[in-house]
Amino acid sequence: MLDKAKAHIEMVMAEGVKGPDKGCKYYPCHHFEGQECTWCFCPFYPCLDPSAGGKWKVSERTGKDVWSCIDCRWVHSDAIPEKVLEGLRRGEEPRRLRRRLWEEGHG
Ligand code: SF4
Repeated sequence: MLDKAKAHIEMVMAEGVKGPDKGCKYYPCHHFEGQECTWCFCPFYPCLDPSAGGKWKVSERTGKDVWSCIDCRWVHSDAIPEKVLEGLRRGEEPRRLRRRLWEEGHG
């Protein structure tokens, strides 16, 4: 995991969910108003599961395949960030946590 992503996740673990960040110059980077920005750096990246809206694309910068989250609404919807935070604070392994939330109908 990138240092920047790790630092962001640690910050959320300490400070809690944030809601939409309308002051961010990229807002709404997932192209819908009200986007929840707590998990700007997603703890599940790269989930490699298109069910959430992610997909493979060719990076314009490197020409290599990258997992793009631009169309993912799941982790940026109102209902999910707190559940993710609770799971991570309990020490749930991220892949297992994501799968559990989907299986419980939060997908
Ligand atoms: S597609 Fe969504 S859940 Fe998957 S890694 Fe990207 S932001 Fe996270």
